[in-house]
Amino acid sequence: MDCVFCEIVKGNILSEKIYEDEYVLAFKDLKPQAPVHFLVIPKKHIKNALEIKEEDKDILYNVFLSIQKIAKELDLKDGFRVVNNCGEDGGQTVLHLHFHVLGKRKLNWPPG
Ligand code: AMP
Ligand code: ZN
Repeated sequence: MDCVFCEIVKGNILSEKIYEDEYVLAFKDLKPQAPVHFLVIPKKHIKNALEIKEEDKDILYNVFLSIQKIAKELDLKDGFRVVNNCGEDGGQTVLHLHFHVLGKRKLNWPPG
């Protein structure tokens, strides 16, 4: 399987890791779109939001718990945005489920 995020999980591709537990890994985005921009991914390969199954509920719970922990550590008390791009129209370029977390600047809405 040719998945860049699976390679990051295995340690074959280096990343700037900021958090890791049994279920998830968080690391800085290569092309940050805000002063804080990291990705939270499940260690398990799940293609995107359309492929999440009932058995993945612990993973998803831990994705959001880890976002909460990291947000507190990084002092994102003024708020932040969690983004999941799904499929072609959603702008998904890496086909391994991931959540962008952006903060430390005022973010526009709607995103366009
Ligand atoms: P998406 O467009 O939602 O699929 O986002 C994929 C994100 O992964 C982009 O923001 C990329 O900058 C980021 N990305 C791709 N490869 C790497 C990598 N090796 N390390 C960190 N971020 C990456
Ligand atoms: Zn993968």
